[in-house]
Order: sequence, then structure tokens, then C-alpha cells
Amino acid sequence: MTLSLPSALEKYSFEGIDFYLKRDDLISEDFSGNKARKLMWLLDHEVSGIKRIVSYGSAQSNAMYSLSVLAQMCGWEFHYYVDHVAGYLKAHPHGNYRYALQNGMQLHEAPLPDAFPSDTLLIEEGGRQKEAEYGVKMLAKELTEDLAGCDVAVFLPSGTGTTALFLQKHLPFPVFTTPCVGDAVYLKRQFGMLEEDCALHPTILEPPKKYHFGKLYREFFKIWIELKEKTGVTFDLLYDPLGWLVLLAYRERIGREICYIHQGGLQGNESMLKRYERKWKQS
Ligand SMILES: *Cc1c(COP(=O)(O)O)cnc(C)c1O
Repeated sequence: MTLSLPSALEKYSFEGIDFYLKRDDLISEDFSGNKARKLMWLLDHEVSGIKRIVSYGSAQSNAMYSLSVLAQMCGWEFHYYVDHVAGYLKAHPHGNYRYALQNGMQLHEAPLPDAFPSDTLLIEEGGRQKEAEYGVKMLAKELTEDLAGCDVAVFLPSGTGTTALFLQKHLPFPVFTTPCVGDAVYLKRQFGMLEEDCALHPTILEPPKKYHFGKLYREFFKIWIELKEKTGVTFDLLYDPLGWLVLLAYRERIGREICYIHQGGLQGNESMLKRYERKWKQS
């Protein structure tokens, strides 16, 4: 697998905002976006004596898919634990779930065991762990070189907040983010688990209203389509729509040029698009 690194930095315009776009979605077809950055430590360091990796989370997770690619590449077993797989998904496998299974993922609909054999490496849900700093620091270095001399703020939507936190730690620019999973209090707590010094935390912008992670919203789909039409770029359907709604709502407050990080996740769009289709065919 060849990775195109450093990833491209491009310029676009949307709703009157000129912005830079860091194309981490183009790092590779299979191993891209912030999951590639967060898991880069596994690629660049010989992890000796490992026969299998274990992780857990949702059945359509982007991190799950990326881990399946990595495990296949490295010749490791990949065991993944989920609480529950929806009947529809089992009957009609699609999206990240389908492709991870095709890559040899062994799925367990069971609680994560307490202990594993010593040749097992446990990866936290969504790749939220301190080792992720290694790859995100590389992203920060690329951005620092790309944007030298610019008066810019970096923006990206957060899940666990791991990417935003390590970016802020290594960037000379302010980093703004918004919580897509949970609220600002949850995200702050996530930051605190990785870095005690609050001065090194990104700035959290609260969404204009409460959205539930993974739910379908008309305004999400609308802005996703508009972005595609006006920029030609396909964004992800889980995080980016809220990211852009927040960015548009706070553009004055940010008050600098924006660099938006495209964090990939496009293979997850397949299942989201199916859900949007099913929902609106009915109504
Ligand atoms: C995983 C993911 C995120 C969230 O990343 P965190 O480091 O957990 O905040 C954002 N966007 C996309 C497309 C992702 O796949």
C-alpha cells in the first residue's frame, strides 16, 4: 500500500468563505483520513511479537474499517467487539461493516474480555490513545510548513477529540473544533484525559442546536450536497455536516483564514447514504 504523504493542501470557496482544505482523505484509498494519522504509529514502529489486534465500538465505525486494513497488511488477526449488530445490517452487510469482514475481521457480539494473550495489542475505541500523537504530529508538521506566514485557524469536527487535541499541541495556529459525539463537557473531559494542561486544549465551539451522533438531519444532508456541488469535494456524512454548520455559524468569531481538515471516512458514506435514502423514501 502506498501512502501519498504529505497530503495535498488545496484552496476552495464555500458560502463566501475562502478556505484551505487539507486532503487527508486522499492519503490512500483504504487507509486514509485521521484514522490513518492516528494509527500511523502501528505502521512506522515495529510492534514486535504481535499476532492480533483487538478493538471495540460500533458496527459501522471508520476506525474498525481502518484497523481491518492494517491487520490484513501486517498479517495480524483482527478481533472486534460490538454490543449489538442490527438485524438489517446482518442480513444486508454494507459499508464499513461489510468491508471490514471482507478484510478478515473476526466480529464478536459480546463484551470486551478482561484479559488477552500477551501477543495481543488492544486499540481503544476510535483509536483514542496517546500513541496517536505520533501520526497527528506529522500532520501538524505538514500544516506548519504549508501555512507558514499565514494568519490562519485550523478547524475540524471532533469525535473523541484525539486528532484536535494533538493538533493543537503541535501547531502554532489556534485549533477550533466542535463536538459531534456528546457535548462540550464530554469533549473537554476527553481532552483532559490526554493532556492535563488546559492551555494546550483546542477551542470548543458549541453547535447552534443539539444533534445526536449518527442521527439523520435534513440540514446535514443539504449542506453535504451543497459542499459537493460548490467545491466538487465529497465530505463525510457523519462529522463534516455538523462541522460545516458550526463553521458557518462562527466564522466572524474565528476571524481568521480557515484551514479545514478533511478527515476522510468516505467509505462510511455508503451506509449513511442508504439510511438517508430509506428514511426519505418513506416520508
Ligand atoms: C474518526 C473521525 C473523526 C473524529 O476523530 P477524533 O480524533 O475521534 O475526534 C472525524 N471525522 C472523521 C471522518 C472520522 O472518521
